[in-house]
Amino acid sequence: MIKNTQSAEFVERSKCINSGSTNLKELSSGFFTEQPLKNFIDNEPWGESPLKYLTYQKWCFVQCLNCTQKFHKYILNPSWMKKCYSEWVTQKAIEKFEKDRGLNSAENLFEKGRHYIIYILCIKNSTTKN
Ligand SMILES: [Zn+2]
Repeated sequence: MIKNTQSAEFVERSKCINSGSTNLKELSSGFFTEQPLKNFIDNEPWGESPLKYLTYQKWCFVQCLNCTQKFHKYILNPSWMKKCYSEWVTQKAIEKFEKDRGLNSAENLFEKGRHYIIYILCIKNSTTKN
């Protein structure tokens, strides 16, 4: 059971997630509670905000020098990942976020549907030409 006062726990990925190489280059890093990331996190559609669990926690974005794959070096461990997708990222919070911004209006849903149809037609056209 994860308590409200605990810090999130991460797993370090020291090998490339694509090639397995350890030849990694750090592209950027920082703390979750530093700007501009803190503002970004503050404005995401959370159920419960994860920020209180991320104080003093560092993120690090790396690139594999063998295959160019980019990925986050630290990811939540399995129990924290479970918390993330059951308490932080919730369907209810996403629906509220979309409703508050009018993203589920009839006009937006129509545009979204139109975009998907165009996308499907592009795929169909590209596969029938060959
Ligand atoms: Zn690689």
